[in-house]
Amino acid sequence: MVELSQDQLEKQAAIKKSATIFGAIVGVIVGLLALWILSGQGSAIRYGGAVVVALVAGFVVYRASFKSQAKSALCEKCGAAFSRSRSDRSETLASSEAKEEREEQPDGSTKVTTWTEEVYDVVDTYTCANCGDETTNTYQTTRRKDEETTVEPAPKPEPAKGDAKGDEGVVADKGAKGGRRGSSRGSTKGGSKGGKGGKGDEGGKGGKGGQG
Ligand SMILES: [Zn+2]
Repeated sequence: MVELSQDQLEKQAAIKKSATIFGAIVGVIVGLLALWILSGQGSAIRYGGAVVVALVAGFVVYRASFKSQAKSALCEKCGAAFSRSRSDRSETLASSEAKEEREEQPDGSTKVTTWTEEVYDVVDTYTCANCGDETTNTYQTTRRKDEETTVEPAPKPEPAKGDAKGDEGVVADKGAKGGRRGSSRGSTKGGSKGGKGGKGDEGGKGGKGGQG
């Protein structure tokens, strides 16, 4: 095999690193899962089994990840390994659309989510560090922008009766005060406004007399 250049070695190291991280994450998750599944077993079987399963899963994932990344870094034209990497990315806005989603909540209110959905045409350019060959990969990607969530309250019935009662109470108090004032100051005011407060007012008597 041809000796790798500095660029190729760096690329190889980067691929190894990301494959190792990926394998380690999967290994830990699978190991914890095995610990949970083997919880009924003795501690030797439980911990020993979890370690073995974690190592195997981690190694399998590492190999698969390294292989797939190495394959995409291999130049199809000159056959150089670890030489092909992304050199450019261009994004063009293809469409922009306002979207809305309404979701009924258990309490009767409505959750309203609005956003702008943007579709981009993406062109990735890959360049071979060895022969300079360029290849492009074109695809579309969708992004949500300016996402906002508001809650529309449930349609409420008329205000509670407690408020109306409170208002009546206030009015009654004012009336009582007015009545007292009216009786102390003059007969005309007391007669017209303070029905309750009027003690033997002329206006009050006159009214009754007129009716009868
Ligand atoms: Zn090449």
